[in-house]
Amino acid sequence: CGIIGHVGDGDALETLLTGLENLEYRGYDSAGVAVQNGSGIAVQKRSGKVEELKDAVTETSLEGDVGIGHTRWSTHGPPTDENAHPHTDGTKDVAVVHNGIIENYAELKSWLRERGHEFTSDTDTEVIPHLIQYYLDEGMENEAAFRRAIDELEGSYAVAAMLSGEHVLYAARKGSPLVVGIEDDEFFLASDVPAFLEYTDSVVYLEDGDVVVVDEEGIEFTDLAGEPISREPETVDWDP
Ligand code: GLU
Repeated sequence: CGIIGHVGDGDALETLLTGLENLEYRGYDSAGVAVQNGSGIAVQKRSGKVEELKDAVTETSLEGDVGIGHTRWSTHGPPTDENAHPHTDGTKDVAVVHNGIIENYAELKSWLRERGHEFTSDTDTEVIPHLIQYYLDEGMENEAAFRRAIDELEGSYAVAAMLSGEHVLYAARKGSPLVVGIEDDEFFLASDVPAFLEYTDSVVYLEDGDVVVVDEEGIEFTDLAGEPISREPETVDWDP
């Protein structure tokens, strides 16, 4: 029931794990992270507590400056390691975390299966990375493939996605909360502000229909069709 994302210099993993701990209050049954490293996207995820995920990631190398993390509150499929997020397209070219419910996932899943896609979880979420991969295979650029995939979704979502080989995060929301944190050239995505308050108090609250593309150079706020929209950061007050 929580999303965290990080782009910028510095170690993504520590930020992601701190963010997931900060989001524990929202309740969850599984947790996971994906980090972009030199050789592609590395994923660690499991049912259970963030503490257990931390133990698991220390045994692997999840180094990189771009990453996404998730705490899951299961709606489609039991809380198993396979059903935990991030979900990938199978080849780990695309990794996605999602809060909410994709109402038309069954149709999308059978449509993708007919086109050779194989699924490894019971979740509604898994159709998202497969859809993005489908449009990449059709020859679309990364951003266009993300937008096209989001456009297919019915239901509620806060989604963050990462594609192999670039230091970029894509995110979109409809009916589930998503906020952006900004600290110089370091950027955070989260379902709620407490996720990244250690790092910044400069926040943009996204609205339904917003799509953001974030890299080390900055953030682009657009609508689903790609038209620029204006979203100004505000400073949040909080007692540490
Ligand atoms: N519907 C998704 C799932 O069951 C996401 C649940 C959530 O919001 O954590 O995996």
